[in-house]
Amino acid sequence: MAMQDYEFWFIVGSQFLYGPEVLETVASRAAEMAAELNASGDLPCKLVYKGTVKTNGEATDLVRQANYDPRCAGIVTWCHTFSPSKMWINGLAALQKPWCHLATQYNRDIPNDEIDMDFMNLNQAAHGDREHGFLGARLRKARKVIAGYWRDEAVRRRLGSWMRAAVGAAFSRSLKVMRFGDNMREVAVTEGDKVEVQIKLGWQVNTWPVGKLVETMGAVTDAEIDALMETYRQSYDFATGDLETVRYQAREEIAMKRMLDAEGCAAFSNNFQDLYGMRQLPGLATQHLMAQGYGYGGEGDWKVAAMTAILKAMSEGQTGGTAFMEDYTYHLEPGSEYSLGAHMLEVCPSVAAQRPRIEVHPLGIGDREPPARLVFEGHEGDAIVVSLIDMGGRLRLICQDIHCVKPILPMPNLPVARVMWQAKPDLTTGVECWITAGGAHHTVLSYDVTAGQMRDWARMMDIEFVHITDGTTPESLEHDLFLSDLAWKLK
Ligand code: MN
Repeated sequence: MAMQDYEFWFIVGSQFLYGPEVLETVASRAAEMAAELNASGDLPCKLVYKGTVKTNGEATDLVRQANYDPRCAGIVTWCHTFSPSKMWINGLAALQKPWCHLATQYNRDIPNDEIDMDFMNLNQAAHGDREHGFLGARLRKARKVIAGYWRDEAVRRRLGSWMRAAVGAAFSRSLKVMRFGDNMREVAVTEGDKVEVQIKLGWQVNTWPVGKLVETMGAVTDAEIDALMETYRQSYDFATGDLETVRYQAREEIAMKRMLDAEGCAAFSNNFQDLYGMRQLPGLATQHLMAQGYGYGGEGDWKVAAMTAILKAMSEGQTGGTAFMEDYTYHLEPGSEYSLGAHMLEVCPSVAAQRPRIEVHPLGIGDREPPARLVFEGHEGDAIVVSLIDMGGRLRLICQDIHCVKPILPMPNLPVARVMWQAKPDLTTGVECWITAGGAHHTVLSYDVTAGQMRDWARMMDIEFVHITDGTTPESLEHDLFLSDLAWKLK
């Protein structure tokens, strides 16, 4: 499903105490608020007013419907009047979708002349939302609380941002990952418990033989390759005359896409140690698949493949870019310290600062023919890098704030796409924190998805979240990880 196909249900709390006129006003205002929020352009998905809860049965019915409707990616609740929360217990206890409590108020200001006790009874979100909040806390339900006036742009944008995280949760719960071969031999951090991941995150991670891919490649026609070559020409500059090598990448791309689509997979991994029957490691092929929204992880890293697909789904329609990435090497000049990210071949061109070039160069790893790949520099801007690791018994999501720069060196002999960045709080402290938390060398780098959205997503999926930001110190992080370790063992 595309971002705009999802909807969020606006469920408003009240009670019968104030009479039918008040309830009519609540319903018409809730519908008006949903319409205006939808028209603002700040919400990526539709907000649908589904009704006012006045009884236990109404709350339970609405939540049941939300749970079973695949279009519904979450609920947004608000208490216009006081709404006694015991009537919400059965419903919210059964809730399986992300929940945002929008603590807002229909009117912005207290009207000096108009205010009387009727006004007070109609507009009492200030204590209605506290009753509602108590129940959320008492149920230990994961929820996002957004407080503020609903017409404020900042409030609308926070709601829109949370919606994107919730779409990431819906996407995650139906995600299928295709592994071509196994993980790179002896590597630890790319391993993980696929059963636990499916229970927690919904991912179906399974393996297909490389032989099946080679067979599918053999069935690709010249006409199909011609058509994809034309797409490459429209999107990229050809900095090679070796068209046969580029055509081979097109063959690989078409075959991989055919297998992914046939199985409904939105992410894949492969491994240079298992290219049996293939002449090139897929480079351009993988990069162009990522540009179309597929997630990818190198060396069999199916976790980063899935996370790449999820962050791409969360940022659908945004233009900053999201890519599979690897911290490769550092520039440690005092006062000018940077991390250089790249991969053997496979960085997504969505992060490119300029039109990518197709080049062909030998590859020392994998023992195959020189592969075609896209070469470019990443653009400047604030971004995050994200890594999901399996701690044994639980999953930890690590997110670091970074600032990407135009690479400070031209690096003319580096034949791969590259991104250069400053890690927060600074390079070496950031590295100390990342290593202390156990973050992988593989990450998802995104200019679009924010750390706040990853925090929301982790809360929705009920996994540990670690954020390395401007204010993080190794001491504070170590302390947090220690407490977190205890908490997650008890959970
Ligand atoms: Mn790698």
